Amino acid sequence: AHLDRIGAVDGAVHAFLHVDTEGALAQAAAVDKKRAAGEKLGPLAGVPLALKDVLTQDGVPTTAGSKMLEGWKPPYDATVVQRLKAAGVVILGKTNMDEFAMGSSTENSAYGTTHNPWDLNRIPGGSGGGSSAALAAYEAPLAIGTDTGGSIRQPGAFTGTVGVKPTYGGTSRYGLIALASSLDTPGPCARTTLDAALLHEVIAGHDKMDSTSINQPVPAVVDAARRADVAGLRIGVVKELGGEGYQPGVEARFHEAVELLTKLGAEVVEVSCPHFQYALPAYYLILPSEASSNLAKFDAMRYGLRVGDDGENSAERVMNLTREAGFGAEVKRRIMLGTHALSSGYYDAYYGQAQKVRTLIARDFEKAYEQVDVLVSPATPTTAFAIGDRVNDPIAMYKNDLCTIPSNLAGNAAASFPCGLADEDGMPVGFHVMAPVMRDELLYQVGGALE
Ligand code: GLN
Repeated sequence: AHLDRIGAVDGAVHAFLHVDTEGALAQAAAVDKKRAAGEKLGPLAGVPLALKDVLTQDGVPTTAGSKMLEGWKPPYDATVVQRLKAAGVVILGKTNMDEFAMGSSTENSAYGTTHNPWDLNRIPGGSGGGSSAALAAYEAPLAIGTDTGGSIRQPGAFTGTVGVKPTYGGTSRYGLIALASSLDTPGPCARTTLDAALLHEVIAGHDKMDSTSINQPVPAVVDAARRADVAGLRIGVVKELGGEGYQPGVEARFHEAVELLTKLGAEVVEVSCPHFQYALPAYYLILPSEASSNLAKFDAMRYGLRVGDDGENSAERVMNLTREAGFGAEVKRRIMLGTHALSSGYYDAYYGQAQKVRTLIARDFEKAYEQVDVLVSPATPTTAFAIGDRVNDPIAMYKNDLCTIPSNLAGNAAASFPCGLADEDGMPVGFHVMAPVMRDELLYQVGGALE
């Protein structure tokens, strides 16, 4: 039924870059067989899922939204994919994204933009717009995203779906094509809080293949989603994330949701995180620095594209021609920013300074969590904007990430839950919840209560 649905609507939505019809049917048949044999199956066995095209799946084309990797078939499964397969989840295909996960709209994909199912003239968010659009268009009930600066939560907010960024290190990065290794976090996307929690439990947990993976039990997210109880929970509204520059319809739905949580017994206070205002500039130095280093491996020798290999050109010339042809404008912009920020003479002024700011932001969180259990804000300053609106204005595009980036810099858990539609444009609004490291269950308690 989901493959049929993809066939019917994906021409207009363009959530998928690759639909693995044969593979999906084979996985589904394998689950049926196990069920018929009386094997005990997990709660997600046989449930279809859309996979962001930044995670490797053995033998299935994986592009990370880039021409650089066109035609590349990885020879192994990411840990997240191994765990999905072990749980009997049926992977329908790979979803569209901004190239190497750089962006907030999927307009940076080398394979065309994804359209927001709520209004096809608008972007679905990014970088994981394909995964969230697939959910909103009922092409899949579950999806996987990755969140480095908001790429799960912002598309979740823009498509009226649930998007969770687990604690950094709570889900494995093995087999994830790296954007910024100190920030990248795979996580669950779904239409309901409980579905997201069930998926979270399947993919999370320690992995010896990822040196930053946390060796602790997975937080009890499914229990929390079922309890959906906020009585006595201390909730801090972040003063700095709201007000000027925020769309009135976004603020209205956000404050209504806060009122609802108060009625349900939560204690709500205002909390100040004074360094959050520097999160965006710090992120846009740290991320390009790490990305410029991670993308050095796309050298025309190891993966995918190779241009100008005519027997005459030197290896260096082939490398230059390939990177010139294979990377899009945003990727080149960030490689230049990153190499500049890391260069000797500038290192302390840019990268070093940004790392200090990162520490101050983590301290803001620590202080806040002495007073409250979770922090909340709108997930994004505005609802989904029109396709083409911000493509030529990188700064306007970067401002999308105002609310989501602090949690990435501090490595703690955060999620966006749907909280209604803005009056101005009828587009979905996301309610953002942030919780301390390895307290991911608190997100689900709040998300469940809002449903
Ligand atoms: N908009 C952010 C960026 O472009 C999101 C990145 C991400 O989470 N992958 O860097």
